[in-house]
Amino acid sequence: MDFKELEKRLVAFRDARGWGRYHTPKNLAISAAVELGELLEHFQWESDEEILEAVKDPAKREAIADEIADVIIYLTLLAHELGIDLDEAVERKIEKNGRKYPIRI
Ligand SMILES: [Mg+2]
Repeated sequence: MDFKELEKRLVAFRDARGWGRYHTPKNLAISAAVELGELLEHFQWESDEEILEAVKDPAKREAIADEIADVIIYLTLLAHELGIDLDEAVERKIEKNGRKYPIRI
């Protein structure tokens, strides 16, 4: 699924439920940050080794995946409200990063 397809599905999902009026840029940005906080709760006080061990448990891995998905969902809706094409934005940013951090051998 590309970003445009994801955006279309998410907008249809929220519009079918009448949630569009709540989806202001500010509310969506806050919601993305809240969901990122929920993701971080899984990592709080854990070492990298403990986290990698924990995600071997399918239920734990799914719970973390749910929070990652929540962040992506809100950011996709935020980009939609701001008229930002995520396919273009991500591609452009990767190119910028490549110029900023050239490969040094
Ligand atoms: Mg969540």
